[in-house]
Amino acid sequence: MGQMALIVTNPATEETIAEIESAGVEETDAAVARATAAFNGWRAVAPADRARLLRRLATLVEENGEELARIESQNVGKPIAGARAEVGMVAQVFHFYAGAVDKHYGQTIPVAGGVDITFREPLGVVGLIVPWNFPLNISSWKLGPALACGNTVVLKPAELTPLSALRLEQLILEAGIPEGVVNVVVGPGRVVGQRLVEHPDVAKIGFTGSTEIGRGVMQGAAGTIKRVTLELGGKSANVVFADADLEKAAAAAPYAVFDNAGQDCCARSRILVQKSVYDRFLDLLIEATRRVRVGDPRDEATEMGPLISAGHREKVASYVNDTVSAFTGEAPEGAGFWYPCTLVEASNDDRIAREEVFGPVAALIPFDDEEDAVRIANDTPYGLSGSIWTENGARALRVARALESGVLSINSNSSVRPSTPFGGVKQSGFGRELGMHALDGYSEIKNVYLATG
Ligand code: NAD
Repeated sequence: MGQMALIVTNPATEETIAEIESAGVEETDAAVARATAAFNGWRAVAPADRARLLRRLATLVEENGEELARIESQNVGKPIAGARAEVGMVAQVFHFYAGAVDKHYGQTIPVAGGVDITFREPLGVVGLIVPWNFPLNISSWKLGPALACGNTVVLKPAELTPLSALRLEQLILEAGIPEGVVNVVVGPGRVVGQRLVEHPDVAKIGFTGSTEIGRGVMQGAAGTIKRVTLELGGKSANVVFADADLEKAAAAAPYAVFDNAGQDCCARSRILVQKSVYDRFLDLLIEATRRVRVGDPRDEATEMGPLISAGHREKVASYVNDTVSAFTGEAPEGAGFWYPCTLVEASNDDRIAREEVFGPVAALIPFDDEEDAVRIANDTPYGLSGSIWTENGARALRVARALESGVLSINSNSSVRPSTPFGGVKQSGFGRELGMHALDGYSEIKNVYLATG
């Protein structure tokens, strides 16, 4: 039986935009049963045909891009221009995995007395659990490789932001992907998510969310020895050396942490600045932060919208309350879960520098030299992303090798591209999404030996 209705809110206005019947354990089990029934048919679809269906889905995402971007903007509070770019990436991701379907090969291995062959087999039914900050994007990062490998799917969006996944489910059917291959179930994480984690017929959980919930997913998966990939939290460093192009680094730094109102696992929320240029950089950074346009997500010029909920805003504020801000920007008043861009001078031991704030709040931390920068940057339980700003190429690569992080960019904020691997180390999780690497997380290698006598 479905539980109570789930109220979906526009975080920029606090208005209800949808009421959805919330699924429970029974609906989750039914979705798993549909996915199980669809599995043999889907895995048997010829690779070229599976590719064609994924390509058709990519095209439908493009054709319905404006509608999807508006849904995402309204439900998450994302500025419309950014939401359009995200939907563009969703289409690119499906195009990429359409192209990957018939390029994920097995091998033949030299052995005595016969032939040894490896096959890439799908896992079966996979449970995909996604957060509210990039609902459609992160769904596509998991759906693309899962479907390309021949798995069937139960997708659980975050309860705050289910609308784009429900629209995508319609497009998946419109593309001609058979019924039962992708099943969206909307309901609470501790009910629907947990049931997927424990369900004996679910072979793998692809999870993106907080480290805290991820820890529980890993424990829950142990009961059935499920495969898991975990894309978890971050506390990434933006390391600015004295020999960087400071103007460029300062102009980019706000967007590395205030994009998506800081609700970004890749947010470079610790800005490490070499002491010799600290004061100058801070002036430039304040100037750049002042220019971030905060306001109505429907406005084409808006760069930052509200936070996702009142509760989340309280949590973000709790990090800033006992600090002295170097800069606090403007934010709209009245309805909406607004929070201003905030720069705080901190030490790496402060709570604001240790925990994931997940809001538009950056901690500035000075460092002495390269060794000190690497030490501070690595002094965190997380290891997801980060940036290095320097004009010295050798230093850039030296520091990139030394940083404990799954993803890094040099003289840039960019973290994700459809064709390159993305994921964390340490408590930011394990497994890689995107690129050809993600296919390894949605397939199993089967080894077959044929004795030739
Ligand atoms: P969350 O961990 O609260 O929830 C994530 C998902 O897990 C939601 O769908 C939720 O309903 C579900 N869930 C909740 N309890 C569950 C349970 N007991 N069993 C199974 N599923 C359960 O995270 P959030 O607040 O939605 O998202 C923010 C977090 O996600 C941040 O920590 C952020 O860093 C992280 N994140 C990581 C990445 C990455 O790729 N590494 C990307 C985006 C967000």
